[in-house]
Amino acid sequence: MIITIDGPAGVGKTTTAKKLASKLGYQYLDTGAMYRAATYFFIQHATDTSSENQVKKMLDILNLKLDFTSNDSITILLDGKDISLLIRSKAVTDAVSKVSALESVREKMVKIQKDTTKNGNFIVEGRDIGTVVFPDAKYKFFLVADYDTRAKRRFKDFKIVNEEINVNKIKQDLTDRDQYDSSRKLSPLKQAKDAIVIDTSNCTIDDQVNQIYKHIERN
Ligand code: C5P
Repeated sequence: MIITIDGPAGVGKTTTAKKLASKLGYQYLDTGAMYRAATYFFIQHATDTSSENQVKKMLDILNLKLDFTSNDSITILLDGKDISLLIRSKAVTDAVSKVSALESVREKMVKIQKDTTKNGNFIVEGRDIGTVVFPDAKYKFFLVADYDTRAKRRFKDFKIVNEEINVNKIKQDLTDRDQYDSSRKLSPLKQAKDAIVIDTSNCTIDDQVNQIYKHIERN
């Protein structure tokens, strides 16, 4: 069984997906982390992402593995090295929307997403999961929150990776990234018609997890 959680940056998708997964005994898949890993890889190799040829060549040698053995998080491995924290840097965050708009990148990531989840119960979170990757999922959720709340949450994320950035700049970056993600041609950030919308602005993480949990229990 697949449960999808989509929505813009900073609405609490990953934390919600993790907690819900542990409550239901499911695994969770953070697809944003996968696009970030591809971006990190391109930055490391100074790949010219405007060249489709170069991007395809690099994707052929991209050795990305997802390790689900830890209880409460996925470990992202690139050539066997744990890059789970490195992909949260500002450099990766600034470049990821452009990379995730590329067709060959999306094809490769969606294939990994489908292969990874085909034999299990998963909560999959991202931008296009309920619309494009798993349009037939039984339960679909779309999280939203106001910009102030989202910027404060992202501010805390940057503190974890020791990067200083001011909240107003984060707000602007979120606006720009949402705009880019929502208006791209392929698999844009969009609410699926049959998704339940949850506004997390004034919710604790437990509130939002419980709202989703209750909906699943009732249906
Ligand atoms: O969720 P997170 O902020 O880590 O996602 C990083 C970026 O990855 C998003 O801004 C978006 O450009 C891209 N993404 C995507 N499709 C997904 C998940 C993430 O294009 N399913």
